[in-house]
This record gives sequence, structure tokens and C-alpha cells, in this order.
Amino acid sequence: MTISIWILGDQLLEFHPAILAAENAAHSEDIRIVMVESDLRIARLPYHRRKLVLLLSAMRHFADDLRDLGHVVDYQRTQDFESGLRNHIAHHAPDRLITMAASEYPTRELQSQLASRLDIAVDVIPNTQFLTGQFDSFPQAASSQKVVMEQFYRAMRRHFSVLIDTQGSPVGGAWNFDKENRKPLKRGIDPPAHVTFQPDPLTLDVMHQVEQHASAIGTAKGFDLAVTRDQALVALDDFITNRLPDFGPYEDAMSSSHDVLFHSVLSPYLNIGLLQPMELIRAAETAYHEGRAPIQSVEGFVRQIIGWREFMYWQYVRQMPDLWTANAWQADRPLPEFFWGGSTELNCLRHVIQRVAETGYSHHIERLMVVCTFCLMAGIDPRQVTEWFLSFYIDAYEWVVLPNVIGMGLNADGGVTATKPYIASGAYINRMSDYCSACRYNPKERVGDNACPFTTLYWNFLSRHEARLRANPRLGP
Ligand code: FAD
Ligand code: SF4
Repeated sequence: MTISIWILGDQLLEFHPAILAAENAAHSEDIRIVMVESDLRIARLPYHRRKLVLLLSAMRHFADDLRDLGHVVDYQRTQDFESGLRNHIAHHAPDRLITMAASEYPTRELQSQLASRLDIAVDVIPNTQFLTGQFDSFPQAASSQKVVMEQFYRAMRRHFSVLIDTQGSPVGGAWNFDKENRKPLKRGIDPPAHVTFQPDPLTLDVMHQVEQHASAIGTAKGFDLAVTRDQALVALDDFITNRLPDFGPYEDAMSSSHDVLFHSVLSPYLNIGLLQPMELIRAAETAYHEGRAPIQSVEGFVRQIIGWREFMYWQYVRQMPDLWTANAWQADRPLPEFFWGGSTELNCLRHVIQRVAETGYSHHIERLMVVCTFCLMAGIDPRQVTEWFLSFYIDAYEWVVLPNVIGMGLNADGGVTATKPYIASGAYINRMSDYCSACRYNPKERVGDNACPFTTLYWNFLSRHEARLRANPRLGP
């Protein structure tokens, strides 16, 4: 029996389960791997060129690494996934195709139809890139039922025994250390630079190709991300050694002079399979047990991975396909033009948008409490906001953008993902950043020429939606 394995571009796993499944079913000389670079997929939206370079270079390096290990790889560059697979089947006539379930809904839909469309036996095996998929005992709540992240997070930590002591209690005596975290960046604290990587000839070639891509945004010039697993492991080690110790206290801080602060910048690699969530968690846990990082930072980081990241994927799976059209606040204003270049007098938004246009990255609080809070309070159409995020960020994929933007950031799913809308006046941004001190607006003023638009929109949102907000037990009187 001859078997072909279709590996998707965001499934660059060191031990790919489809390869293991094929090796259990056939001799290695009867197995081929097919990878497809789809023109339509990379042109679905105007994506950031850094993201395209990351993805295409990582895919091509992955294919080369597989060849070095002795696998036969058919690397197709075609119009779409289906035509790439058709070419492969026409040429090699495999008896069956094995593929791991995609993390994104549209590709999962395609996979479920492949057998009839290609007239071949197809096995779609479970996705192993998320821990939730390996955790069957979590209650399969109906899609409209609210499950709060904290409840989910504690169940995950117990199940995988992460930061749990021998008595079954949380290490450090508490489930969360938020009170010790959430500090603004103190004067004199200078976050260390994060590791970067020189592009090799293969990456330089991709950069050149992507620079010509007419519909993409940003530039490929200066590309310095990891594109192989070995490099991603260096990035992980750099974070654990140099930034994890201060991650917790400053995870919500924003700064006009530092993009990354003490964050990890590991999402681009996690989301394409170069790193696995559990290896990050165990690396952070080990740093704690060896006295290299305090509990408030390690718990804060673990919460992001086994809590928020897994919770978001879980929400995506249970809420799709309805999540794409959710619009609980009936927001219908178009996304302002300045989102494409950052040309605005709102200093916080200008910094964040220009930073993302340049690098494809901003950290969590800037995504949530600057970009999304503004869009929620200003009543911007959720679909337009979502497409903006999908376009601009190097780590953006449907499964993570939809629940974060439509669910958490815009509260447009009726509170299924987050129990309250994340709204705030300029006072919050003033407390957590240095943006306001250099802004022409005053965060304390809500009316008049100098009024901060965040503050005005905040009070306007409260008055427009007073009855509904009062009815929310987390916000009401
Ligand atoms: P760190 O602060 O170092 O956090 C560590 C890791 O935790 C991240 O690498 C990420 O894998 C995970 N994580 C933390 N919070 C979340 C979350 N809410 N959802 C999923 N993973 C989380 N994350 C993406 O990977 N891609 C996106 O396109 C994306 N869009 C977002 C849009 C909005 C509106 C919001 C509020 C959040 C979004 N996030 C997204 C989640 C989070 O902001 C990013 O994962 C994080 O900023 C990536 O930077 P980092 O690796 O330095 O993260
Ligand atoms: Fe942003 Fe308002 Fe602060 Fe200006 S004053 S930086 S608009 S929050």
C-alpha cells in the first residue's frame, strides 16, 4: 500500500503524528509527504510580509529537514490546496492520504470533503498541537453556555499536573498572583533585547519573492525571526533565561520605547508547530524549581499558555462557524483609515499601529486595551477589525484571532468568551504606559478640544448601553 501524507504549513511538528501513523501502516519506501504552498491562501487577505516570509521559509526549511531525514517530499507551489493535492495524486497515485486535522475551520471543512473530491481514501487524524484535544474529561459545554477561563485554567493545570504540589494544591499557595503583577514599567528598568536570527540563503530567497507580492503589506526587509525548530528553541531559551523572571510584574505594562518588554514573542513559532505548548510550560516550571524565576512570573506565563491560549482554541472550536458573524453590540462603523498607516493624533493608537505595521507584533495588552477597546467603544464592525488583525500580525490565524478579537476584545459573541466587555477610559492607558504624557489629548478630560477620545468614548459607551451593562453581574451595581 502506498500512502501520502499532507502536512499543512502551520503543522511543522518535529514528530508529526501523520508520519507516525503512516509508518505504522506501510513500509517507508511506500510513503511520500506532500506539502502545498497555495497562492490563494497567502492572498486571502493583504498579509504582513514578515508573516509570509516566516511561513514560507519555515515550510521550505521543514521540507528540507524531512528530506535530510530520508523522507520523500513532494513540495507543490500551486493555486490552491486542492490543485496541489490533485497534482500530487495524478503523479504518484497513492492508495490513501493521511492528514492531521487543521486548526482552522475552513481547512478542516476541506479535509472533511477530500475523500469525495479527490476520490481517494483519506484519514484525518486528530490535531495534536493543542492540549485541549488531549483532555477529554473537560465538560463539553453547549456552545452558548458560559465557561469562565479561570475554571478552565484550573482544570487544565490539575489534569496536566502543572505547578501542582504533591498534595494536589497550586504551587506557591495560590492559583493566581495578579496582585503582584500588572505594574507599569518603572523608570530605570530596561528590558533586555530579544534574540534575532540572520536570514540564510533560503530565507533571503523567500524575502525577495515576498517583497514582490503585490497585495501584501509591510516589508520583508530586516526579517530576523526564527524559521527552524533549532532556532525556535534558541528563542525559547532566550526568553526563559532573560525575560521570564520579570514577565509577571510587567506583563500589562506598555511603553513607547519598548515593543517586547518582558514578553516571549514565541506565538509565531507555537502557532506553526515549531514549538509545542507543553515544552514551554515545562521549561518555565523547571526555571521556577531551579530558582531562576519567581512564582508570579512563572504562573503568569503558564496561565497564558495552558489557560488563555487553550481556552481560545476551545472557544473557537465550540463557537464556529457562528463566531465569524457575531455582532452582539450591533457595531457597524467602518474601520478608520488611520488603521492602515497609523496617521492619527491619538498617541497610543499611533504607536501601536505603526509598531504593528513595521514588525507585525505588539504585545497582548496593546492588542486588547488599545486597539480592541477603541474599536469596541467606537462601534467598529467586528468583521473589519478581525480582518485587520488577521492581516497585520505575524502570529495571526483564524483559530486565535476570532475568539480573541470577536470574543474577548469586542465582546461581540454575547459574552461567551469573556464575561464582561473590556472597556476603559484614558486613565487606564495613562496608568499603564507613557503614551499619554506625549499626547496632545488629556486622559482626564471627557469633553472639549483636549478631551481624550478614549475617555469620551468610554462615558459615551456607558450611557448608550447603561441598561445592558447594569444587568451584567460583573459590572452592574
Ligand atoms: P506572551 O505575552 O509572551 O505570552 C506567552 C504565550 O501565551 C503567547 O506566545 C501565546 O501563545 C499565549 N497567549 C497568551 N494570551 C493568549 C490569548 N489570549 N490567546 C492565545 N494565546 C495566548 N495570539 C496569537 O497567537 N495570534 C494572534 O493573532 C493573536 N491576536 C490577538 C488579538 C487580540 C485582540 C488579543 C486580545 C489577543 C491576541 N492574541 C493573539 C493573544 C496574545 O495577545 C498573543 O498571543 C501574544 O501577545 C503573543 O506575544 P508573545 O508571544 O510575546 O506573548
Ligand atoms: Fe491615548 Fe488618550 Fe492617552 Fe492620548 S491621552 S495616549 S488618546 S489614552
